[in-house]
Amino acid sequence: GCNGSNQPASSSNNTSTNDDSDNSSNSSQKVRIGLSLATLQEERWQRDRDAFKKKAESLGAEILIQSANGDENLQNNQVENLLSQDLDLLVIIPQNADSAAALVEDAHKAGVKVISYDRMIMNTDVDLYISFDNEKVGELQGKFLTDLVPKGVYYIFSGSPTDNNAKYFKAGAMKYIQPLADKGDIKIAYDQAIEGWKPDQAMKLMENALTANNNKVDAVLAPNDGTAGGIIQALAAQGLAGKVPVTGQDADLAAVKRIIEGTQSMTVFKDARKEAEKAAELAVQMAQGKEVSELTDVNSKVNNGKIDVPSVLLTPVTITKDNIDKELIESGWFTKEQVYGSN
Ligand code: BGC
Repeated sequence: GCNGSNQPASSSNNTSTNDDSDNSSNSSQKVRIGLSLATLQEERWQRDRDAFKKKAESLGAEILIQSANGDENLQNNQVENLLSQDLDLLVIIPQNADSAAALVEDAHKAGVKVISYDRMIMNTDVDLYISFDNEKVGELQGKFLTDLVPKGVYYIFSGSPTDNNAKYFKAGAMKYIQPLADKGDIKIAYDQAIEGWKPDQAMKLMENALTANNNKVDAVLAPNDGTAGGIIQALAAQGLAGKVPVTGQDADLAAVKRIIEGTQSMTVFKDARKEAEKAAELAVQMAQGKEVSELTDVNSKVNNGKIDVPSVLLTPVTITKDNIDKELIESGWFTKEQVYGSN
């Protein structure tokens, strides 16, 4: 789109022999990109936001950012507001995978392409999807848990029903858990989604599950670190924290500390900085007019119910006590002091 820049098409001292070399392609203009975040509830989203902004600005783009505090209607309003500001491209992390389709359609009406970031927007013509391999995230959780506890009573928690990722996480984990349940080795005593990925909700549900099962539990599938925190609080209230393996995801600082103290068993590290930087690079290229088919990083397709969306998927990593230093400290995700310091 137009960005109001009145830069001359070429410098007055153009000594180039190639007449086209200094023409004003879109790539020499400042592009404007909107970023709409569903939430900042989990620590990671601030990193996504900051890394995206930093990278995109370093590439010369102007960035407008809105965050919707987990409120789908607020996100709708924020996106309409962003679209009124002459964007060249829009990046959305949807609060609601289904209803956000209308936002993509509004963007397209305004001539603005949309990148669905981390979470897929369903049943619409998303231009590009950037995420981690989300089924793989679930597989890492499920494999970890079933290796550790091949038999016993399992509680299964899954993420927000409005987040398409939650389905992939669960499906990946159940690839490992379901066959053992079918054999009768594992008993699934509880199976519950957590609205809005809310930690306090996770704690209440875990209290209910423990009460209903007379505290009998051998393993807990928790979809992310925030919800794992709530679940572990409920276990702690029954004197069970550290006695029951609990999974996680995101490599939140509190979760990494729980792994060291032994109350959480693992987390899945998704380097949000890499995800956001990749998104920023591709967003700027698209904003400058590059076609998705010309982007060299596209490495997969993910179906969203309507189309196979060209996608860039990064690889998640299991974190336990054994590789915290290598994966999280050496990579600069945390400092040694943050992880091992007394506060
Ligand atoms: C993200 C997770 C995050 C969760 C809650 C998911 O879509 O992939 O990293 O923990 O949302 O915000």
